[in-house]
Amino acid sequence: MFKYCPKCGTEKIEFINNRYFKCSNCEFIYFHNVATATAAIIVHNNEILMTVRAKNPKKGKLDLPGGFVNPNESLEQSLSREINEELGLKLTNWLYFCGLPNTYTFKNITYYTQDCVFINRLATKPAITIEQSEITDYLWLDMDLLDPSRMAFNSLRTAVEHFIQQSK
Ligand SMILES: [Zn+2]
Repeated sequence: MFKYCPKCGTEKIEFINNRYFKCSNCEFIYFHNVATATAAIIVHNNEILMTVRAKNPKKGKLDLPGGFVNPNESLEQSLSREINEELGLKLTNWLYFCGLPNTYTFKNITYYTQDCVFINRLATKPAITIEQSEITDYLWLDMDLLDPSRMAFNSLRTAVEHFIQQSK
């Protein structure tokens, strides 16, 4: 990620244990911390709401709605904001389900993430307006017919598999 130390400009910078950059010339340290992300399993009866990714990584694959947590946001605030941006839904009653590690490569930089998955059960199917820069479509998929291999990320695939298993 860094070839030269951003502080002293030498090439004495090393990436250690996938965790931090350290310059042996000037002692500069930068932690490449795990990025926090949230995802929603939105359920109506026996169906889960999935989105189709508009962008790389994993363009065209199925995904759960959600995204990266901004500074100063709680997990729940972040997820409510993402769901409103991506789907035009105002949801707040999140039930925590699980956290799973993942990697996300964007423009040649790999981020380690912690994907925090929440459940929201809806009594009625809402009207949805998708954010077309992020999503090309949305699908309500029957849990009994859903093929998790169509999903973009291992972490969220595992979460959905566990959720379906527990719902049986
Ligand atoms: Zn340096």
